Amino acid sequence: MNLVLMGLPGAGKGTQAEKIVEKYGIPHISTGDMFRAAMKEGTELGLKAKSFMDQGALVPDEVTIGIVRERLSKEDCQKGFLLDGFPRTVPQAEALEDILTELNKKIDYVINIDVDQEILMERLTGRRICKSCGATYHLVFNPPSKEGTCDRCGGELYQRADDNAETVNNRLQVNIEQSKPLLDFYETKGYLKNINGQQDIDKVFVDVDQLLGSLT
Ligand code: AMP
Repeated sequence: MNLVLMGLPGAGKGTQAEKIVEKYGIPHISTGDMFRAAMKEGTELGLKAKSFMDQGALVPDEVTIGIVRERLSKEDCQKGFLLDGFPRTVPQAEALEDILTELNKKIDYVINIDVDQEILMERLTGRRICKSCGATYHLVFNPPSKEGTCDRCGGELYQRADDNAETVNNRLQVNIEQSKPLLDFYETKGYLKNINGQQDIDKVFVDVDQLLGSLT
């Protein structure tokens, strides 16, 4: 099963990715993770990616497409793969089509975990973190028993600077603008499957699993 996973920040893409790879045993290919690992190891790729990532910019297509081509050619992708964070641009999506044709493969589904923008705002701005022990809470989904205080150590809870409404809203807008042409591209190809991400995590996975069941 050859899959691409999409979803805005806060949609629960990471959680569903974990569940998919666990159940179906396919490799999880996250370009963000690959760049972070390369940076940590100090490889040439890491050095190339660092300046872009530090500015929150996209790594150039030729670099990104190169690492994905190499990764998809590996033996463990024979039974399938889950791409996460790639493609991010239409040229990347077109390159992916070419790579897969060369490898005699094709995408089965592009799974988009769909959540309304207002709900994403609520999810992303509600996070609170303990100053002392780093435990995380959510005002709505996982509140501490006493407001502003950590259940675990009694420390004071705070909101991370980049979790404030304005920053979160900007991040969402950038992501929406980036993903729109890709969603259109895959809709036209007939690969796109929207999954309702506004349900319990387990119910979202039931829907994903039902879709994937048709491939096994
Ligand atoms: P992520 O973990 O997916 O949010 O990616 C973290 C960073 O890695 C991004 O902000 C980009 O700088 C870089 N990156 C990850 N995937 C891609 C991609 N497909 N194209 C270009 N840059 C990427």
